[in-house]
Amino acid sequence: MHASGLNPVSRDQPSPPLWLLAELTYRCPLQCPYCSNPVDFARSSEELSTAQWIDVFKQARALGAAQLGFSGGEPLVRQDLTELVQAACDLGFYTNLITSGVGLTKMRVAELSEAGLDHIQISFQAADETVNNMLAGSRKAFAQKLAMARAVKAHGYPMVLNFVTHRHNIDQIDHIIELCIELDADFVELATCQFYGWAKLNRAALLPTREQLTRAEAVTQHWRQKLAAQNHPCKLIFVTPDYYEERPKACMNGWGSLFLDITPDGTALPCHSARQLPIDFPNVKTHSLQYIWQESFGFNKYRGFAWMPEPCRSCAEKEQDFGGCRCQAYMLTGNADNADPVCSKSKHHEVILAARETAQQAPLGLDNMVFRNEKMSNIIIKG
Ligand code: SF4
Ligand code: SF4
Repeated sequence: MHASGLNPVSRDQPSPPLWLLAELTYRCPLQCPYCSNPVDFARSSEELSTAQWIDVFKQARALGAAQLGFSGGEPLVRQDLTELVQAACDLGFYTNLITSGVGLTKMRVAELSEAGLDHIQISFQAADETVNNMLAGSRKAFAQKLAMARAVKAHGYPMVLNFVTHRHNIDQIDHIIELCIELDADFVELATCQFYGWAKLNRAALLPTREQLTRAEAVTQHWRQKLAAQNHPCKLIFVTPDYYEERPKACMNGWGSLFLDITPDGTALPCHSARQLPIDFPNVKTHSLQYIWQESFGFNKYRGFAWMPEPCRSCAEKEQDFGGCRCQAYMLTGNADNADPVCSKSKHHEVILAARETAQQAPLGLDNMVFRNEKMSNIIIKG
């Protein structure tokens, strides 16, 4: 470690933050039990103003950011969303709205399109109305999502759907894909739940069994072949949970390498889960993005390879996965410096094996899930 506390690798100019994620708000009308927002999100309701967000976009663009994702919470809750999209498009960003579809109207789609929004991704909880609405915590969510998916497509956007799959909906993957075809989807992300935030809290109730996962992958592959034979344009993307891998994912393509997340109150993070780490991350209200990205302690802490202890330090695979996810290492081993325990070379890998075993033994019920809402977040904060 450098005397200043910075990793020596940080002295080289880091590559630009190509992908900026603006988490505009933690407010959301839904309450998905797998939400990746922090479980203590109710601690602060502070949100950057319109002018502060636009200033962040300008600074990020000057640093080389090219893609801007608007997410949350539910970004549509922000009444200034169109203004923010317009500002981002004027700056030359490729813009993407990541939404539940709740709060969207045909008129709002038209306004966002007029402002220059490039891409809209709508998330569903399930292909079945009852399960969808139960997981979302809203009786109207499913019908609204269907209507808005159609409105987005009718407006000339490619239809990009996202389904978070887990042990309660993964057996219906055939129906999920059928629904996507019916909706004329162009891209479908079938993303098996990753265990951060509320999903970590509900892991025992959400982690699918290996059999469920294997079947879902086979069904997806079957559909891919069927669609290819019909020259159908729909692309199915299947994202496996790393709990069933022997090597971790290259989290964010390396810490502080291309991803920059700004949370609703302006805290800057190298990934959207990093807030839970025992690191004092900088805020855009008190520091320039240039300082944050290039100089700050938080963004340099795990850049490069010099910070790595064994087994990663001498591992031939470290340039492929960067030792995995720091948040997962922290959540599952208590120390963010450790190798991600997903790795079979990690001495903590048994925590992953134990989670798989628990999933195997647990009944497939829908009970015992903690839903993501402000009341529950306050209960968690009070301990
Ligand atoms: S995952 Fe669900 S609860 Fe969380 S922000 Fe998205 S729609 Fe809202
Ligand atoms: S030991 Fe570390 S670098 Fe090597 S494969 Fe495992 S997580 Fe990756």
